[in-house]
Amino acid sequence: RVAVRFSDVTHEYGSSGRGDDRTVTALRDVSFDVRAGEIVGLEGPSGSGKSTILHAVSGLLVPAEGSIELHGTDLTALSDAERTRLRRRHVGIVFQRFHLLPSLSARANVALPLVQAGVPRKTRRERAESLLEEVGLGDRITHLPGELSGGERQRVAIARALVTDPDVIVADEPTGELDTATGASVLELLTDIGRDRAMVVASHDDETLAVADRVVTLRDGRVVVNEG
Ligand code: ADP
Ligand code: ADP
Repeated sequence: RVAVRFSDVTHEYGSSGRGDDRTVTALRDVSFDVRAGEIVGLEGPSGSGKSTILHAVSGLLVPAEGSIELHGTDLTALSDAERTRLRRRHVGIVFQRFHLLPSLSARANVALPLVQAGVPRKTRRERAESLLEEVGLGDRITHLPGELSGGERQRVAIARALVTDPDVIVADEPTGELDTATGASVLELLTDIGRDRAMVVASHDDETLAVADRVVTLRDGRVVVNEG
């Protein structure tokens, strides 16, 4: 079953509107599929288009050309509101620098997407706590991000990405800020949760790419290798 399908996606970042008319072509005719239960690695030098693909999968940007299907629904054909709704329901995002809110507890950070989803407070707290337990942080529920190690912060971020039970997980250099041992344990966690979801992981790091079932290699916004 195909979870994510990119078909001939081309994207340009526009001019600044300040008399600077240069455009950057970030993606050129990019096509690939991610099946349910599959982890796809995105590899390529800095500037090759990895983050642009992740943003596009996440419905955070709409490419100039081509289509991006999430379970058969073309994200590029939706209104902003519909796309946002689909994104919140189906996609969980893990960032390199965690993006936790520093003044909120681990539990409140994890629960935040459920606030947007209109889930009642008690259910939010229970769900956040059970996810924190699942990622090995049952004893860190009321800690602030500043009181946690890098690996613990990334686990909180992973729990937050999972809280809406998305079927697609997108991760941008998830171990980029972590030492090797901590990174390895975060990768193990991602592999676990990837087993019954579709996952796209962008990285330069060989250990991270090794967890992928298939690696898509990008150069200058083009897919140059797609194999696994
Ligand atoms: P990667 O994640 O592989 O480093 P990106 O997707 O971030 O690659 O970038 C692809 C290309 O698009 C690069 O040339 C980059 O400079 C450019 N780019 C990325 N984001 C923007 C932006 N917001 N505005 C203009 N150009 C951008
Ligand atoms: P406590 O009520 O003990 O502080 P939490 O810190 O776990 O418990 O927060 C409880 C709920 O309130 C969580 O669902 C969290 O998402 C929400 N919440 C707390 N602070 C904020 C905030 N600044 N913005 C949005 N939601 C918040």
